[in-house]
Amino acid sequence: MTISRLLSLAITLSFVFIVLSWSASPKDPVSKSASPQAPADLILMNGNIYTVNSHMPHAEAVAARGGLISYVGSNAGAQAFKGPSTEVVDLEGKTVVPGLIDAHGHFINLGESLQRLSFVDTRSYEEIVSMVRKKVEATPVNEWIQGRGWDQTRWATKEFPDHHALSRVSPNNPVWLTRVDGHAALANAAAMKLAGITATTKDPDGGKIVRDPKTGEPTGVFIDNAKSLVEKVIPPLTRDQIKRAATLAIQKCLQDGLTEVHDAGTSAEVIDVYKDLIDAGKFDFRIYAMIMASGDPVKSPAAHTLDAYLKAGPLVGYGNNHLTVRSLKIVSDGAMGSRGAAMLQPYSDDPGNSGWMVMSKNLIYEWAKKATDGGFQVNTHAIGDRANRVWLDVVEQLEKENPKVKDLRLRDEHAQVLSPTDLPRLAELHIIASMQPTHCTSDMRWAEQRLGPQRVRGAYAWRSILRTGVRIAGGSDFPVEDPNPLWGIYSAITRQDHSGWPTGGWMPQEKMTRDEALRAFTLDAAYAAFEEKIKGSIEVGKLADFVVLSQDIMKIEPAQILRTEVEKTFLGGKLVFGKVGQFH
Ligand SMILES: [Zn+2]
Repeated sequence: MTISRLLSLAITLSFVFIVLSWSASPKDPVSKSASPQAPADLILMNGNIYTVNSHMPHAEAVAARGGLISYVGSNAGAQAFKGPSTEVVDLEGKTVVPGLIDAHGHFINLGESLQRLSFVDTRSYEEIVSMVRKKVEATPVNEWIQGRGWDQTRWATKEFPDHHALSRVSPNNPVWLTRVDGHAALANAAAMKLAGITATTKDPDGGKIVRDPKTGEPTGVFIDNAKSLVEKVIPPLTRDQIKRAATLAIQKCLQDGLTEVHDAGTSAEVIDVYKDLIDAGKFDFRIYAMIMASGDPVKSPAAHTLDAYLKAGPLVGYGNNHLTVRSLKIVSDGAMGSRGAAMLQPYSDDPGNSGWMVMSKNLIYEWAKKATDGGFQVNTHAIGDRANRVWLDVVEQLEKENPKVKDLRLRDEHAQVLSPTDLPRLAELHIIASMQPTHCTSDMRWAEQRLGPQRVRGAYAWRSILRTGVRIAGGSDFPVEDPNPLWGIYSAITRQDHSGWPTGGWMPQEKMTRDEALRAFTLDAAYAAFEEKIKGSIEVGKLADFVVLSQDIMKIEPAQILRTEVEKTFLGGKLVFGKVGQFH
């Protein structure tokens, strides 16, 4: 044995001693559920483990007991936790990261989209019409046909579609096809008839019915608040359909290595379904649910939901850390793809249009005031520079009125285009930027046309935001984008699409490092949910959520990240995706 090996053995032994004595401290949560000598339920060894813990960034082995991490360190150290019934998994050098967190997704929409027509891979309106024609043949007369994911910026014409071709292939079934960003949708004639839409129907506030410039007839495209004119006649999901959607979404997310999603705007009914599934032991997942603000902050159904939660107080860690409800989601403006994002100046490619707020500043303030007075976090969707300024102004006012607001970790969902004067205000106002790297790499094809060369510099400006000390919580906004967090990490570090375009990355000065990107999808997402003490890194006492990957995403060529597979997902020490024995 060489001196250096002796030295490393001594370091290992002293490390075990430190861990054991630390674990035994009465303040440590592990010592309550398991004494240090208690054998682990699970040991992963021979791993290449990225812990996202700055005090011990890398490890070989991790042990879990009772759903919590009981040891992190060397293979030798893990031996002390091995008992007769401990399951030991030899990782054979595979990479492990903490369970990945998507800080902004739409969980039930994901489950629904998995059952609906998906146009994500289509490149023309004709393709979409032909998919609908096939669906009509298999659908009972009068039943709604829904689809999602069209994107006219990917078609040769780049123009919004009009309903005629769609109405011809589906004369009887109402059809409702949502644009990729969820901020616009296309209806056929049958759907518009059911909704009572005619040439004389007026545009609602914060929305637009797209019309034929010659005849004034609606083309079938409804943007932002105008969508609800049609959506209100679509039969709502039944409780069983919500359950089915949630179950499908869980499977999809676990396959992608996600162990938690921040559900960005949901209802009391959906939260009740989550609770039912958790109570029935059918919810191997973690949800941080935001209550969706909508309509009047006093009288609307959404207001009653919020009132009930404010009265009961935050719901934290329901059913052994499966569900938390302590936040409100507000949508302040539209999206940039449909030119509905609220801008301070008109769009560079649509000079008469500056987008719109879908909720007025006054209402945003009233909703946020009510939630923060009750100690709830508020997470506001803000895409355009005007919407972002409105949210920053509201937060400034709230913090002036109530100093406790600065501890509520208020969030800016998307923080997509910031005016240069507003950029430093995120840090000054203690706001978390909840950003979706794949939005950048989808939008970069047209972002500069929409924004022009000056404003675009404040768009998707991750590095500029990180430099001010603001945390970025990473997400995908699924089903707007694919939920795969590895794609998010790839986008964050390359600012390139999957074909590697553009060379060197789009506005490369705003790239994240790999460490920052991994943190955004783990520890900083956990922080954005007040969960950094129990999630987001592989540390003793935290929940035993981790993911085994086929390749070392911290070292391989960026393009290889897209070809990396999630081999296993563990939630609370339990294998919830993948096969036990895969490595044996
Ligand atoms: Zn969203």
